[in-house]
Amino acid sequence: MQYERLSDFSGKGSYLLFSFPLYTKIKIDSSIETKNETEILGYNEEGVPDTLNHIYFLENKDFRFLKNMFMEEKNFFYYCPFCNKELPIIYKGQELKIEYQDPILTTYTFMYSMTEEYEDYEESASEDYAKRINEFNNHVLGDKRVLQMNLECTSKYKHKLYTIFQITDDNKLMKTGQYPSILDFDNSLKEYKKVLKDKNITKELTNAEILKTHNMGVGAFLYLRRIFEKLIFETFEQAKLENNIDELAFKIAKTETKVKMLFENGYVSRYLAEINTFVYGILSKGIHELSEDECNLHYDTLREAILLILEEKVEMEQKEKLKKATKKELNKIHTKLSE
Ligand SMILES: [Zn+2]
Repeated sequence: MQYERLSDFSGKGSYLLFSFPLYTKIKIDSSIETKNETEILGYNEEGVPDTLNHIYFLENKDFRFLKNMFMEEKNFFYYCPFCNKELPIIYKGQELKIEYQDPILTTYTFMYSMTEEYEDYEESASEDYAKRINEFNNHVLGDKRVLQMNLECTSKYKHKLYTIFQITDDNKLMKTGQYPSILDFDNSLKEYKKVLKDKNITKELTNAEILKTHNMGVGAFLYLRRIFEKLIFETFEQAKLENNIDELAFKIAKTETKVKMLFENGYVSRYLAEINTFVYGILSKGIHELSEDECNLHYDTLREAILLILEEKVEMEQKEKLKKATKKELNKIHTKLSE
């Protein structure tokens, strides 16, 4: 998902508050929106309706989102890093001055439209809007244009959480701080940490995540590729130990073929064998050719693929363990019954 303007976060407020990268400027469009409405007053003798038209000049949806985010009471169902589980997290909100509550700036009502009149209304709405944005910023964010949103989890401990936002001189919203950190809110690695033998892998996944939260997508890709290569190499070492692979052929093969060789010998899952070309291809392309923005955009999907590979690796290992243990038990029973 690409976030180009503030209203793109509609329905994803918690993500913006707790998981969206810091120092990323988000556009708050300040152009005016209009909405037309036609009112039928009655019908003349020929059955033709007499109509009254209204053109509403409205605050932009980005500004409406901003007002709602800062002012309205909120209840997010999200992961609390202190509780280590998902639960409602609340924001108390603050009172919005009555004159800013209505998003309608002005209404042009007419039976027969006149261009000049329309332009007058439009101009006056623009002036009002600019004034309103300025006053709102002064009132809610102060002259530093900074607001700290304080939140609280709903456990008996009432953990305190906060996010700091700034509105820049070019009218963009930027998150400049938060506590707990973006990494603390990411609980997806906890499961793997318990089972992965190579602790470096979880460390590298964490590094990838840190770079991503600072919008350094190329660097994040590099870590993901290292993990991918490491997993392939680890699997190869295992196959070598069990004398199930042609070492020389493996060493000179391209990554794609390497994965194929491992799959044919039952060391990697069908899924990994299938997605390997895409994953490795995209990661390599990211490092050499893609822009920082493109890498940021595709990072989540690539990371998900790596996590799935890790998950399958853990599952395969557990299954292998179970197979060996069961075979041993069966052997014992067999020996006992043959006595
Ligand atoms: Zn909590």
